[in-house]
Amino acid sequence: MGLLDGKKGLILGVANERSIAWGIAEALKKEGAELAFTYVGENLEKRVRPLAESVGARLVLPCDVTVDDQIDTLFDAIREEWGALDILVHSLAFAKKEELKGEYVNTSRDGFRLAMDVSAYSLVALCRRAYPLMEGRGGSVITLTYLGSERAIQNYNVMGVAKAALEASVRYLASDLGPKGIRVNAISAGPIKTLAAMGISGFKEILDMVEAKSPLRRNVTPEDVGGTALYLASPLSSGVTGEIIYVDSGFNIMGL
Ligand code: NAD
Repeated sequence: MGLLDGKKGLILGVANERSIAWGIAEALKKEGAELAFTYVGENLEKRVRPLAESVGARLVLPCDVTVDDQIDTLFDAIREEWGALDILVHSLAFAKKEELKGEYVNTSRDGFRLAMDVSAYSLVALCRRAYPLMEGRGGSVITLTYLGSERAIQNYNVMGVAKAALEASVRYLASDLGPKGIRVNAISAGPIKTLAAMGISGFKEILDMVEAKSPLRRNVTPEDVGGTALYLASPLSSGVTGEIIYVDSGFNIMGL
């Protein structure tokens, strides 16, 4: 028997097999969850569909989170196919490449708006559609954040500000949805070499720093994050909501 037998999970944010969302999907699947996936655009569909099918997913749908119609269509399909939802994984973010280098003071209005819309507001938009399907089932919402929300990390810039908004949203959403029995938490992952991370200037130096200075002296993997996501998705964390949980080899606790 698996920890998530009979549970239904929607995963947003798989781009390829290196995605954090894929590490999470594998962990949830191993414990019996039935999964649905989304993708953005035809190029990513070619990557996501075979991965999704390899874990038996029947629902693989387009969803650009900046487009309300696509979010509505996604949840219509979930309602039709499953009639309910137990787990929502929000593992996506976006900022223009030019905003992820140089000084934050140069952030453009358009770059700020786009990063906030995709990386922070999208969680609110998704939760609003998800909660009626989760109500009374002990639902769990999980998002992904990074230490750049609370420390100034070179080149992370507007994404750090978007992650701060995302983390505040986790607390407000946890407060709103808690009375409906739905928990909302974030995992603050250490740096992992993914498609999105490669857009951050100097990312390799961040990886080297964590390996050299973190208590565990290593970088984390999507499997490490998947383990914590499994805990947050399962009844093992039934009393936990509104939290930011670090999966970063302990890097965040270090001073000098
Ligand atoms: P990834 O490139 O594998 O995944 C990012 C995903 O965001 C992609 O699937 C992409 O399609 C999706 N996305 C971008 N714009 C979108 C839009 N408009 N609508 C819907 N989806 C959109 O990279 P990842 O590192 O696995 O990123 C997943 C999450 O983890 C992000 O929130 C990221 O900020 C966070 N995170 C990553 C790291 C890291 O070092 N990789 C560390 C901490 C947190």
